[in-house]
Amino acid sequence: AAKRYTRQSAWYNDAQEASRLSHLSLLSDLRSAVKASELQMWLQPKLNLQNGRIYGFESLVRWQHPERGFISPAEFIPFAEKTGYIGIVTQWMLDSALLKLHAWKQHYPDLSIAVNVSTYDLRDRSFPERVVSLLKKYDVAPHLLKIEMTESGIMEDPQATIELLNRLRDTGVGLSIDDFGTGYSSLAYLQKLPVNELKIDRSFVSDIQHADATKKLVRTIIEMGHGLNLHVVAEGIEQEQEKITLSELGCDAMQGYLLSKPLYGNSLQEWMHLHIP
Ligand code: C2E
Ligand code: CA
Ligand code: CA
Ligand code: CA
Repeated sequence: AAKRYTRQSAWYNDAQEASRLSHLSLLSDLRSAVKASELQMWLQPKLNLQNGRIYGFESLVRWQHPERGFISPAEFIPFAEKTGYIGIVTQWMLDSALLKLHAWKQHYPDLSIAVNVSTYDLRDRSFPERVVSLLKKYDVAPHLLKIEMTESGIMEDPQATIELLNRLRDTGVGLSIDDFGTGYSSLAYLQKLPVNELKIDRSFVSDIQHADATKKLVRTIIEMGHGLNLHVVAEGIEQEQEKITLSELGCDAMQGYLLSKPLYGNSLQEWMHLHIP
């Protein structure tokens, strides 16, 4: 039995190795992907539950690889984060978001765009300056740009992150904690984080109709968020009933397939024509 186990794990290691190699060649493609315009910025709308208005979008990267076809961010982002290649993606997404905000100035002057950043980006001490220079380049008001970072990412090194977030906050951009509730942050740190938005993770939302305990938990998160003066957004809302429950619980805003999947190109334009006056 022991032998069998060894052989199985050897096979598993081969598979892991193959996957690692394919990831490595994938990453070497990432740099040229930017040049070849293979990356796309998709946008998913967010709805203010109090006044029923669309107030902004979250940007989500998509990679259209010439040979491998569509590569989902869940596939390449974690690997790009470990190797530092994520910096290329972040810079490209920031640039694209600000270009879009610039283009919206005339017709949609109040819409915001959120960009996801990783801990790797936050370890780069020049990150706030790069954000500022992009805001200047595209002449965009800082509060229209929001930076999302995951709760678990922040908790990897809370002291250093708080320092960097303070400098980012000074630039006037919005700061948002992503996937809240999954990262074990201590309440003491939460109070010290200079953020203005909290996004309740999808895992809570999908449970809210079925588990009374989850509903109580979400109610508590919303109350705590409001106690800290944070705007509270629920993500991953797929059903009307989830939206109703979250509104009743006082949640400020929602995002999810019920409202719209992430959009791009003509579909984005048509959706905006229909839903944003
Ligand atoms: P996230 O930041 O938590 O983004 C939300 C994910 O949930 C997105 O998946 C979105 O398409 C999906 N989603 C939104 N509404 C619903 C819903 O109602 N139901 C379900 N089942 N899913 C919903 P996506 O685009 O595949 O991105 C996955 C993750 O990859 C993101 O999670 C984020 O962590 C990462 N990611 C995506 N784009 C970027 C990026 O530009 N930079 C970085 N650093 N990470 C990114
Ligand atoms: Ca996010
Ligand atoms: Ca999230
Ligand atoms: Ca997530």
